[in-house]
Amino acid sequence: MKDLTINNAIEFDLPAPFIGRHLIAGEWVESAETFERVSPSHGTVVSVCAKGDEAVTEKAINAARGAFAAGTWSRASGKDRAAVLLKVADLIEANVERIALLETLESGKPISQSRGEVGGAADLWRYAASLARTAHGDSHNTLGADMLGVVVKDPIGVVSIITPWNFPFWILSQKLPFALAAGCTVVVKPSEMTPSSTVMMGELLLEAGLPAGVCNIVLGYGQPVGSLMSSHKDVDMVTFTGSTAVGKLITQAASGTLKKVALELGGKNPQVICPDADLESAADAVTFGVYFNVGQCCNSSSRIIVHEDIAADFVARVVALSRKVKFGDPLDPDTQVGAIVTAEHNAKIDTYVQAAIAEGATLELGGSVLPVGGLGEQFYQPTVVSGVSPSMAIAREEVFGPVLVVLTYRTLDEAITLTNDSDYGLSAGIWSENIHTCLEFARRAQAGTIWTNTWMDGYPELSFGGVKQSGQGREIGHYGFEEFLEVKSLVMRVGRSRTPWVKQDA
Ligand code: NAD
Repeated sequence: MKDLTINNAIEFDLPAPFIGRHLIAGEWVESAETFERVSPSHGTVVSVCAKGDEAVTEKAINAARGAFAAGTWSRASGKDRAAVLLKVADLIEANVERIALLETLESGKPISQSRGEVGGAADLWRYAASLARTAHGDSHNTLGADMLGVVVKDPIGVVSIITPWNFPFWILSQKLPFALAAGCTVVVKPSEMTPSSTVMMGELLLEAGLPAGVCNIVLGYGQPVGSLMSSHKDVDMVTFTGSTAVGKLITQAASGTLKKVALELGGKNPQVICPDADLESAADAVTFGVYFNVGQCCNSSSRIIVHEDIAADFVARVVALSRKVKFGDPLDPDTQVGAIVTAEHNAKIDTYVQAAIAEGATLELGGSVLPVGGLGEQFYQPTVVSGVSPSMAIAREEVFGPVLVVLTYRTLDEAITLTNDSDYGLSAGIWSENIHTCLEFARRAQAGTIWTNTWMDGYPELSFGGVKQSGQGREIGHYGFEEFLEVKSLVMRVGRSRTPWVKQDA
């Protein structure tokens, strides 16, 4: 462990705890009960929020339903909707520091990455604003001389948005501006572990002039808030990002009213490393892919599939780079990897690693909690485990920590079989200088995103989502926008040519 690069605690005056309230029909609402978030890195209370119950969730859904029916937003022009979304983007950029600090204190992620996440989210709002003016259907002028058919797009209605703790502001921005651009009204529930940046978003929405009731926020837990948001008859769609287990519960809850469900769930994302790859770039991308956000990313590249001939050399490169990655105080602008979200999760990560070792895997690096000077032990060492068999839990399940698993292959067919031998299908990547190898992999790998000679690059224009148990539906891009639109056919007779059904002389 002494060879790792650790940033101990820096001097920093922590702010007073943030006070979060629900946002319902344009008003900030308290609850009798509150819940606290203790910073995973600093161990102090950083936010105190109103704890939602069924009654307040019901009020929020009613507000969204009422606002949708009123039409101030749902029937507003694309131009007017876009103007509000563009204002929100400007306000996000003006408030990056304030939001990023809370995000880091609640999640444990490095401040530099919170700044990137919050500032970068503005671009999602700008892109969604451009889409607000593009929603259109099609027309059919070939149905006969007396008929005209027009297919129009309507906002789907009231949307429940339920988000996780790992990228609270970014994931909210992958959903909310697209739903608003479509004309929907919404109820949002952030994770109970990272509620504050969503409350701050609510403040920005009001400042930007979003009409009351169009976006409502309820703070609290999956039970009862998220559960009611998923089953309520007045909700038309639920869009959820989180664990596959909770995604399945949401699908069940939504089935009572057959509402639309969009799910962004877990992943066990592989990168295949071919012998002809640029190994220096590949090793750096693998290191980034596994430690970014402490491996607490749906898109973490938590397993690599390396050609046998280069496996030892490649693992040595990744281990050497892992020792240089800066772990420690998330408030230090120089830190690259911060804290683990909860003590229980830290223990769970370790359980996966110890079980793999007990089953005969080789620990190349790390393998235990990481004490950081002045901050305690809610950190985990950068960990590389080789000699893993595809059937081990560490190779199949989402560890959600800074833990890389190494599998090996001999032929491309074998690498593709290992890639697809997973319940998940969120993303996959390949490193090779041969375009034919890359394209064959890209066409046969079962995943919503394929990266070739890169990892985790994303753009608002491209769709995002998974296959198999990584989810259903797509986010961002034009496909993500379409998820929030319903299709309606207008069948119109031109002139008075209709033949009566009832014969008048019968
Ligand atoms: P989680 O499933 O525990 O919680 C997510 C949200 O669901 C929280 O707001 C939680 O309060 C709520 N919730 C819990 N139980 C509920 C219920 N019964 N009904 C309705 N809502 C309920 O997930 P998490 O631990 O916050 O996040 C980590 C998970 O999210 C990982 O599995 C990760 O892969 C996944 N994730 C996926 C993506 C993606 O885009 N595919 C992105 C980020 C995270």
